[in-house]
Amino acid sequence: MRLKCFGTDHNFSEIRARVWVQCAALVALGLLPAGAQENPKPDARIAQALAQVSAARIQANIEKLVSFGTRLTLSAQDDASIQQGRGIGAAREWIKAEFERYSKDCGGCLEVKADTFVEQPADRIPQATQLTNVYAVLKGSDPENAKRIVLVTGHYDSRNSDTFDAKGDAPGANDDASGTAVSLECARVLSKLKFPATIIFLTVAGEEQGLNGSKHFAQMAKEQGWNLEAVLNNDIVGGDKSAKQDHGVVRVFSEGVPVAADEKRLRAIRGLGGESDSVSRELARYVAEVGRTYDAGVKPLLVFRLDRFLRGGDHYSFNQAGFAAVRFTEFREDYNHQHQNIRTEKDVEYGDLPKFVNFDYIAAVARLNAATLASLASAPAPPAKGRILTKDLENDSTLTWEAAPGGPAVQYEVVWRATSSADWEHVQSCGDKTRCTLPVSKDNVIFAVRSVDKAGHRSLPVAPEPER
Ligand SMILES: [Zn+2]
Repeated sequence: MRLKCFGTDHNFSEIRARVWVQCAALVALGLLPAGAQENPKPDARIAQALAQVSAARIQANIEKLVSFGTRLTLSAQDDASIQQGRGIGAAREWIKAEFERYSKDCGGCLEVKADTFVEQPADRIPQATQLTNVYAVLKGSDPENAKRIVLVTGHYDSRNSDTFDAKGDAPGANDDASGTAVSLECARVLSKLKFPATIIFLTVAGEEQGLNGSKHFAQMAKEQGWNLEAVLNNDIVGGDKSAKQDHGVVRVFSEGVPVAADEKRLRAIRGLGGESDSVSRELARYVAEVGRTYDAGVKPLLVFRLDRFLRGGDHYSFNQAGFAAVRFTEFREDYNHQHQNIRTEKDVEYGDLPKFVNFDYIAAVARLNAATLASLASAPAPPAKGRILTKDLENDSTLTWEAAPGGPAVQYEVVWRATSSADWEHVQSCGDKTRCTLPVSKDNVIFAVRSVDKAGHRSLPVAPEPER
């Protein structure tokens, strides 16, 4: 049997020390070979792509987005304004052109699309308004795996102090030109590679008016039955240069109990202690593992909560449609620099201006996103129909699953952790078998199963259901 202790998901030394002590205890008990802490080895191809991420390009893209004056969803989008380069219409056309430019550089590998619809009047939408989500699709190279989709998104709309001010400046450098720049930069560097699964680089409108763009997009994905495995939402990833900022970490928010869970699922979650194993939470743990595997320049700090206190974002639209989705946000926000008219009062500068954001930090966040997208798009599909056998009362645990559809899995791994632990602590390879018995009681731990290909790419882990 192969047992390993995992590293931790962030740089809090006391947690690292605790895990080390746990590992040391297992070594002492003879349950673990010494020095067994091990993370997946980086894929050289992915590491090379990450090295292409450019802070200078991100800066240029953010400054360009800011140059449109305002990107409020209610701002101008007529031809004259687009020509003049002011308003959300001009921003939309520029993003489209930018994706098309990347596509030209990779021999037309990206399909650039617009999801346009009319939003009827609502709280923050005074009259019927046309919204456009702009996105680029890097189709998977393997016909079977191309149906699997991973997605990165940011919102390109902005706002100032007044959600209805369609004319005044709303630079939105951090909120959320930074997230838009992450989508763009991921598209630019990853379009130079091929992946078995499909990657979508999305930029949405309407976030500030009520998540309208992402809602429409997530609903479309649901209605069309997309196999959308993961959504990474980047919103306020500028690394505002305030004094107490920690540029070493980026928060990754994930919901616990899924908003889309029905009564039956909620009963199962309550009964089995599944409150911290939603698909979004497993995705967050995956990001943590990617953060340990690749040196992105920033470490994910997992926050086990849907979003910041009483605040929301586009990942929630995807959660509502039943998809795994997490939110990346800088460690410490400066509220003087978001949703504010540009002004100086009593020597305090307000406004979401490029001078307050840290382009190197955004580049690091882009690398972490790109590494996650590339790892998932390279990996086999997760195992299907994971089950944990419960017919007999026994202290061992037997798990079964079906082979990952679409091919390249050569082995399966069971991961587990104490019920009170945040992240996976142990792993056992089950070879290419689809059934594994472990000398660990299912009453005491939480299990999941994942697929691994020949090169060591791992799928998202899936929590098994009890089989009676
Ligand atoms: Zn935002």
